[in-house]
Amino acid sequence: MSEGARTDSIDFIREIIRSDIDSGRHREVVTRFPPEPNGYLHIGHAKSICLNFGVALQFGGRCHLRFDDTNPTKEETEYIESIMRDVRWLGFDWGEHLYFASDYFEQLYEWAEHLITAGEAYVDDLSAEEIRAYRGTLTEAGRPSPWRERGVAENLDLFRRMRAGEFADGARVLRAKIDMAAGNINLRDPVLYRILHATHPRTGDAWCIYPTYDFAHGQSDAIEHITHSLCTLEFEGHRPLYDWFIDHLPVPARPRQIEFARLNLTHTVMSKRRLLALVRGGHVNGWDDPRMPTLSGMRRRGYPPEAIRAFADRVGVAKRDSVVDFALLEHTVRDVLNRTAERRMGVLDPVKVVLTNYPAGRVEELTAVNNPEDESAGTRQVPFGRELYIERADFMEEPPKKFYRLAPGREVRLRYAYLITCDEVVKDADGRVVELRCRYDEATRGGDAPDGRRVRGTLHWVSAAHAVPAEVRVYEHLFTRPDPGADGDAMADLNPASLEVLTGCMLEPSLGELAAGERVQLERQGYFVGDPDSGPGRLVLNRTVTLRDTWAKMVAKGTADG
Ligand code: ATP
Ligand code: MG
Repeated sequence: MSEGARTDSIDFIREIIRSDIDSGRHREVVTRFPPEPNGYLHIGHAKSICLNFGVALQFGGRCHLRFDDTNPTKEETEYIESIMRDVRWLGFDWGEHLYFASDYFEQLYEWAEHLITAGEAYVDDLSAEEIRAYRGTLTEAGRPSPWRERGVAENLDLFRRMRAGEFADGARVLRAKIDMAAGNINLRDPVLYRILHATHPRTGDAWCIYPTYDFAHGQSDAIEHITHSLCTLEFEGHRPLYDWFIDHLPVPARPRQIEFARLNLTHTVMSKRRLLALVRGGHVNGWDDPRMPTLSGMRRRGYPPEAIRAFADRVGVAKRDSVVDFALLEHTVRDVLNRTAERRMGVLDPVKVVLTNYPAGRVEELTAVNNPEDESAGTRQVPFGRELYIERADFMEEPPKKFYRLAPGREVRLRYAYLITCDEVVKDADGRVVELRCRYDEATRGGDAPDGRRVRGTLHWVSAAHAVPAEVRVYEHLFTRPDPGADGDAMADLNPASLEVLTGCMLEPSLGELAAGERVQLERQGYFVGDPDSGPGRLVLNRTVTLRDTWAKMVAKGTADG
């Protein structure tokens, strides 16, 4: 998709919807986002959310949030709550249209009896393993279960007794009676109901049989009068089955399913099963670890929801699977933060500078610009004094030619302050630099020399007497390779250096009050955000993204593909 792709651009899904409206087939568009509450949402879900809610907004319809909560063993209230929080955070509103597939359990049960009565479903006593063996393969037809020809009365009786709790888990299932020789394996008498004596987060112990996802999903769409059921490509092969149910049941509406390609991102994994394994295995600090591709992780990392929406927009909707470079996501994040985040100064790896000719005890307030991209952000005062911190990497005792920062005898500019020259390097017993003794030029306040002499390097700094200490967490990709697991186990590709915790960082005093979730740019370093681990007397920041735009470089070199 090209650089300028926007929400109102027309992709193949929007084209179909537009023509359904133009032809009068639908007056109103109704879509839904149907998560299974068995994990936290990830950036792939964001693509689906932006599509479903975006289409509804664009065509003046509505989008439902429906939890497909048919599997009580994997579902938890925690997930339901996190999903609602994340959809809202992304900026979408389902209004009063919050639904649960479990609300339809009674209706689905009735429809199952409807199929039995019509001779189109039967109770099977085969075990799950036997069912699999009887199903056949892609090249071989399946075999009918010995229970396939049970009579309607017996099937009804057994199904009712399944519901009543007479049988153990796995003892029997209800199957549709379609075609054991169908080329599409989904049509080989799929299971509709299984026995599960499990407590459901919403229906409690009311049920001990649960519909399968396949039996619940399409009918739930029909109950809600969904006009367009947008789903990912892996459901293409299920469409004939969903249509079969719709054709054989007295449903109130006929949704149209359209499949699109999943979003895949480099350097990460994107299935709830694998993300759960990362959490359970302690490889990350929870679902909202800033290295996770989850929306809660990205929120904690400092990604603005606006950037995620712009990213979804930019990758667009297609029929073909592809992998998007993580650098494009970071580029989009940087783009939003460049416009919106205020600039501050902070030193991550401090070394002390003493200005030998600056009066002890004197403090000046210097004016700093909050955001050069946004004049309305105004300015702030930053204290300056005799003792400062600068970045250790901004000094070299024996600098190579192109090093324009501080070195013995060299002059640099301190941002918004003065030009200083280094006279002396103080080291400890191990030879480590502990202090730089410098001179400032009083005539250069603001950073310009009256005699017009050129100084190339400009460094950020913090006044030592006013600095606020902080812990800064610096993140790299969670996996070392762009395609984790391509050579076997993805866990073997985990990046051992994905988190670096920097302590003793020194920030300008205005950052003392940085709230969790508040985003800033630390000049020359990148974008950062306050972490909820902060508290009284403790300041923790996460690095959201660096200032280096690898995506722009890829575009320049012609290696970008997104
Ligand atoms: P996962 O495979 O990551 O566990 P899922 O498909 O099982 O995800 P659901 O809760 O069923 O998760 O997904 C809800 C909706 O989000 C579905 O319509 C699904 O198609 C869509 N979705 C899930 N992953 C992606 C993705 N990577 N890109 C686009 N849409 C996705
Ligand atoms: Mg799923």
